[in-house]
Amino acid sequence: MEMLTKQPTTKGPDTMFTGDVWFDVIVRGEPPSRVRTNTVRFSPGARTAWHSHAVGQTLYVTEGIGLVQARGGKLVEMHPGDVIWTPPGEWHWHGAAAANFMTHIAIWEAPESGDESTWGDLVTDAEYPRAR
Ligand code: MN
Repeated sequence: MEMLTKQPTTKGPDTMFTGDVWFDVIVRGEPPSRVRTNTVRFSPGARTAWHSHAVGQTLYVTEGIGLVQARGGKLVEMHPGDVIWTPPGEWHWHGAAAANFMTHIAIWEAPESGDESTWGDLVTDAEYPRAR
C-alpha cells in the first residue's frame, strides 16, 4: 500500500470550463486500472463545456446545487447524494447552479485506446439557465 502524496489542486482550463472550476485527483488509474476519479469544485454559475466520455461517466454530488443536461435533453437539478450516469458518447455538460457552489466526484474510465473524453463548445450564457 501507499499513502499518495497530495498534489496541488488544479484549475480547470478555460477551453473546457466556464467560470472557476478546480479539481483534485483521487484515483489516477495506475495500470492496469483505467479508472479515473476526481473531486471537482464549481463556483456559482461555473460549468463544463459540452463534452462526452468514451466509456461513460458517473457523477456523485457531495455539496451544493448542480445542473446537468444531455444534448437535446431536459435540464436536471442535482443535489448531494444524487448519482448521475452519462453513457458512452453522450454529449452533456455539468456544473453549479447560478446561485450556489457545487462539488461532485467524477468517476470515468479510459478506453483501451483513444481519448477518454471529447470536448466541444463552451456552454454559452444563452444556453445556461440563469433563472431557475
Ligand atoms: Mn462529463
